[in-house]
Amino acid sequence: MNEMIRNMSQAQNPSLPVSPQHDPWDPIHLLRTFGRHVLTSVELTVTNQCNMRCEHCAVGDSLNISDPSKIDVNKILCKLDEVEHLQTISITGGEPSYNQETLIHYIMPILRYAKQRGVRTQLNSNLTLNLSRYEMMIPFLDVMHISFNYLNSDDFHEVGFVNHSGSVSKLVAAKLYEQMISNAVQLSSSGMKISAESMINYRTHRKLAEIHQIIVQMGCFRHEVHPMYPSSFAQNLPELTLDDFMQAIHRLLDTRHPDIWLLFGTLPVFWCSSSESELMLLKRLRETPNVTVRNDPDGRSRLNVDIFTGDIRVTDFAKVPPLGNIMKDGLDDVFARWMDHPLKQTVSCYCPEAGCCGPNFLVKDMYYQEIDFQSRKASVLK
Ligand code: SF4
Repeated sequence: MNEMIRNMSQAQNPSLPVSPQHDPWDPIHLLRTFGRHVLTSVELTVTNQCNMRCEHCAVGDSLNISDPSKIDVNKILCKLDEVEHLQTISITGGEPSYNQETLIHYIMPILRYAKQRGVRTQLNSNLTLNLSRYEMMIPFLDVMHISFNYLNSDDFHEVGFVNHSGSVSKLVAAKLYEQMISNAVQLSSSGMKISAESMINYRTHRKLAEIHQIIVQMGCFRHEVHPMYPSSFAQNLPELTLDDFMQAIHRLLDTRHPDIWLLFGTLPVFWCSSSESELMLLKRLRETPNVTVRNDPDGRSRLNVDIFTGDIRVTDFAKVPPLGNIMKDGLDDVFARWMDHPLKQTVSCYCPEAGCCGPNFLVKDMYYQEIDFQSRKASVLK
C-alpha cells in the first residue's frame, strides 16, 4: 500500500460527516484530484435472500430462498485492504440482515474494518426485520439506505410483494410496513443516518411530494430520488417520458422540506443538452440549497463483488459478464482493465465546469442510444 497516496485520499474525508458538501460516493471528487477515475468504492453482495420481492428490484432475478457457501471473510477483508484509494463500502443483497449468521460473521467484521480504516459504509436494507438486527450497526454504519415508495401499507403490499411466489396477505404486509416505519423512527432517534430512496416511476411520479413528507416524519437525514430504469424485475414496467420525470422533480422541489438533504442520482438530463427545459431543471437543482445531483459511481469509481463466487462486476445488476474474480485478481487491477474496456468508452465523458462525468449505461440505453457523449460538451454555465 502506498501510504502517502492512501493518506491523501483519506484526507478528503477525515472526519467530516456525510453531507451535501461531502458525499464520498460521488466519483467526481477523485476525478478532480487525479484527472482520471480511480477505484474508491466497493459494493459487496452478501446475500441473495430477501423477505420481499419488490416490483422495481434491480437484482430481482438473482433472489433465492437459500444462499450457497461464502468466501472466507478474511479473504474479503484482505482484498479490500489492497484497494489503495478505498473510501466507501456498500453492502447489498437481497436483504443483507436476513440471515443472522451473515450479519454476525460478515457484515459486522466488514463494518468494523471500515470504521478502523476511516472508510465510509452504506447498507441497503428494507428495514422490515427485528430492530435489534439493525441496532448493532449504529456505532459502525455511516448510512442505512432504504427504499421508500409508499403512502400507506396498501402501496407497500402492491409494490413489495408483487413478484412473491407465495401469496402475502395485506395484513402481513401491513405488519412489515409498520415495523419498517417504527424501525426508521427509532434508529434515527438513536443516531443512525437513514437515507430513504424513492424511484420516479409510473406509480410514484405524481405522489413524490407526499412520499417525501412521510420520509421527513421518519427522521431520515436524506431523501434520495432516482428515475426507475428497466432492469431485472422492472424490465416490463411502463416507462415514463423525460418530460414526466422532469415534471415530477419540479413538483417535489416545489413542496420539499428545506432542511432535509435531497439527493438526485442517475438523472437522464445533462448540461450538454440543447433543451431549454432540461437546462432550466439542472439550473434549479444546482441553485436550490440542500439539493445535490450525484454522478453514478457504478463503473466509474465502484466495482461489485459477489461474496459467494468472488466474481467482480461493474454493478450487481449490469448484464456485462464478470470482469475478474477476487480469488485470483486484485480489485485495482480489474478496475484498470475496465477503464480500457470498449463498453466503458461509450460513456466516458467529463465536463469539469458542470461537475458531470456522463450518463450510466441504463440511462444511455433508455434515452441516448445513438448519442456519442464524447463529442458533446456542457453548455456555458450561467
Ligand atoms: S460530461 Fe458528458 S453527459 Fe455530462 S455534460 Fe459533459 S458531455 Fe454531457
